[in-house]
Amino acid sequence: MKIRYSVTIKDPNAHLFEVQLQLKTQILNEQLLRLPTWIPGSYMIRDFAKNIVEIKAYQNNETIELIQIDKSTWKLPNKESNSEQEINIIYTVYAWDLSVRTAHLDQTHGFFNGTSLFLEVVGYADQRCQLEILKPNQDICSTWRLATSMKKQDIDSVGFGFYQADDYLDLIDHPVELGSFKKLSFNAHGVIHDVVITGLFETDEQRLVNDLKIICEHHINFFGQPAPVDYYLFLIMVVGEGYGGLEHRASTSLLVNRGDLPQKGQTKISSDYRKFLGLCSHEYFHTWNVKRLTPNVFVNPDLSQEVYTPQLWAFEGITSYYDDLALLRCGLIDQTSYFELLAQTITRVNKTQGRLIQTVSESSFNAWTKFYKQDENAVNAIISYYAKGTLIALCLDLFMRKKSEQKYNLDTVMQALWQDYLNGYKGFSDDTIQNKVEVILGESCSEWFDKVLNSVEELPLNLLLQNEGVEIATYAAESQSDMGGKVIENPTEVDFGAFLQQKEGALKVIRVNHASAAQCAGLSAGDEIIAVNGLKQNLNQFEALLKLKQADNILLVHVFRRDELMQFEVKLNKAIKNIVVLSKPESNDSVSAQSSWPI
Ligand code: ZN
Repeated sequence: MKIRYSVTIKDPNAHLFEVQLQLKTQILNEQLLRLPTWIPGSYMIRDFAKNIVEIKAYQNNETIELIQIDKSTWKLPNKESNSEQEINIIYTVYAWDLSVRTAHLDQTHGFFNGTSLFLEVVGYADQRCQLEILKPNQDICSTWRLATSMKKQDIDSVGFGFYQADDYLDLIDHPVELGSFKKLSFNAHGVIHDVVITGLFETDEQRLVNDLKIICEHHINFFGQPAPVDYYLFLIMVVGEGYGGLEHRASTSLLVNRGDLPQKGQTKISSDYRKFLGLCSHEYFHTWNVKRLTPNVFVNPDLSQEVYTPQLWAFEGITSYYDDLALLRCGLIDQTSYFELLAQTITRVNKTQGRLIQTVSESSFNAWTKFYKQDENAVNAIISYYAKGTLIALCLDLFMRKKSEQKYNLDTVMQALWQDYLNGYKGFSDDTIQNKVEVILGESCSEWFDKVLNSVEELPLNLLLQNEGVEIATYAAESQSDMGGKVIENPTEVDFGAFLQQKEGALKVIRVNHASAAQCAGLSAGDEIIAVNGLKQNLNQFEALLKLKQADNILLVHVFRRDELMQFEVKLNKAIKNIVVLSKPESNDSVSAQSSWPI
């Protein structure tokens, strides 16, 4: 069977791509065509086929029957012939979701992931295929160019033409950007990296390129040269408000705020730009960790349904640990800045009561329905495998440094796992990391791993950090939006126990913490607070009021639940000190002599 896809920009105003799938074969026997229900890297069923608005099949320009089997699958009629027959399946795809996970098309640009556009020819997924992307003929697209990391076969000067994929998984792992984008380039250890930026923006291009080059060279050196790719593409979509990133084998798609990019004339690193560099560092680290070092169930994943693994803590957590650490190690941020970021992660976990309910393995396993489908009760029921995974990676790093008297650390593990990959070991079983740690340390660590991965016990973070000379201070929050990492000058002594937001002029209860003052009194997510102690409140006024209160004081709270007026007496609790600040004084006698962490 010969498989060839072509993509046409059918109508930017209607957000429609047209895809033609051409099959050349002698025999068609119960041949199924299927679109993925999810995209690797984002663990949620998204049913991309819902965006196929029209689909038809032809042979010799005559329509042939195409039977839909389920929400994502179609069947071609059986056909047999002595010579090669040509079957064409032509379909239009609606593309109006501005996210890194799907497809988007309008007058300003086009973007798509293969999971949104390319039907898999079931049974032939391991076969090489060709992709043609046609230059758009609409006047409005006359200046468009094309960017993708897919292998080029025969393209014109702006990127339109023929590409080639080794197999179906390769075909869907190179997102494509079409438009009049800005393209910057740099070389990192012999690998050309392109940075393609779409949207309305201004930035200090030279600084952006210099900083990204430093990060990429750091990661390549971390795992060892040569890099696993011979070309890499950062696809960046700039918007007023948005955030997201998705990793691919030789590229990443990012959605960022205009203000995240470095501005001309600025020399300091703003917290927004620091976040942006952290995101780039994160996605680039994934080129090794998850795109190549990966759970065995992701090596050849079933894209028609959920694929469960308890290991996401390792692929997102370890990657999240190294994303900011790399910024420190390559000098883009200083230690104070790094400790602020790390303290924010510890604070985030501290503020999540779900950490006392759900283990990180369960969080990974249930990512499909819990982490990716968070509701108002998420804070009480689940723990992020990103945030707790980061802290587990930190604990593992510090645990190994302590055990081996600073001889080994998490770097040793990651580098050894990469060497195993290069030697042909593909796909992690659930204990691959533990086994590697045990080989390096020369002792069993099953109890340690079992505790951090499969229990809800607090992580041994404080002792391990103290061993490295890091001081941990905790504070009660000043306001509900405190993220941690900064000393609190004026803490609130009481805890109300609900997260509130000012929405359309009303003060709304967004979520209620389990067993908190607000919950015990009867307040619920969705309630609209009309008055506290008889007075109308906005969020600032309410937070100022709490500052004047002490534990056991009672607030009379009037709310609308739907259209019903209700009244509650909230007996305030003493505030919990869950805001964390880290510091590492220069001279600290308790530090083990050779401690070099976090470098
Ligand atoms: Zn990630």
